[in-house]
Amino acid sequence: MRVYCDCGKMFEATRAQVGGIVNCPGCDQSVDVPGLNDPVWRAIQCAAVVGILAVTLLVTSFSNVPTGIFCGLGFGLLMWLISRAF
Ligand SMILES: [Zn+2]
Repeated sequence: MRVYCDCGKMFEATRAQVGGIVNCPGCDQSVDVPGLNDPVWRAIQCAAVVGILAVTLLVTSFSNVPTGIFCGLGFGLLMWLISRAF
């Protein structure tokens, strides 16, 4: 996950540092690493759940239930992979 310091430096934080504090390699100031409980992350998680339900219902409406569930799970897997990329 990318972290931006007030000094303008951008650096990578490991997943273990998410939600914690790291020292900036540029100015040695402590910087908060946004955690998964941040409002933005919560919004993304809510959007993912709504998206999964929407995809499931949409596909179910013009196909059948198993296909809808399959597409919903596929969409969920895609969202999970996207979230891992951060
Ligand atoms: Zn800095």
